[in-house]
Amino acid sequence: MPRAPKHSALEFFPPRITYKSLRDASKVCEGCELYKLATQTVFGEGPRDARILMIGEQPGNEEDLRGHPFVGPAGRLLDRALVEAGIDRETVYMTNAVKHFKWKPAGKRRLHQKPAASEIAACKPWLEAEIQVVHPEIIVCLGATAAQALMGPSFRVTKSRGGWFDYNGGRLTATIHPSAVLRAPDEDREEEYRHFVSDLAIVARAAA
Ligand code: SF4
Repeated sequence: MPRAPKHSALEFFPPRITYKSLRDASKVCEGCELYKLATQTVFGEGPRDARILMIGEQPGNEEDLRGHPFVGPAGRLLDRALVEAGIDRETVYMTNAVKHFKWKPAGKRRLHQKPAASEIAACKPWLEAEIQVVHPEIIVCLGATAAQALMGPSFRVTKSRGGWFDYNGGRLTATIHPSAVLRAPDEDREEEYRHFVSDLAIVARAAA
């Protein structure tokens, strides 16, 4: 008999919420269809008492293979930008709105696919639980997927980047995802990168 479809990560939650129990439970999550294509769940990582929590969209090709968030090209650009902004990555908890890599084949490559609203919603319990466990003072949404996952579908990063919003007793800000800098046309890339660093510098000042 076919198994009943699962509709949310909540069905895979551990009885007791700790970082370790969440991370372990997420490894077998089938809350949406994305686990079928991906190599592994990529859960958030960083200090449990981090004051800053950063959220991207989903793991990319390298993250999927290595099992860690922000270790691919976008992660390396983020690392460089964090250094320039004066934020020590080791002090930041890094995660994604969606914990499995969504992709489609393109020859030998695996091409990133934007997660659907239903997949973001199915995965949101993991993100909310991470925020509950880490309880950061500052949440930084990197890109529209992360920002809309927490602030709703009408949130526009282009309009609100660099601004501050209340979230769960802390403060939330949003900027672009570092992959948007990588995708920018050659002539605009440096300017996009500088703007990204200046958004992160606002975070650094707020956390000082
Ligand atoms: S993307 Fe999230 S909800 Fe979907 S299977 Fe993976 S961990 Fe579960």
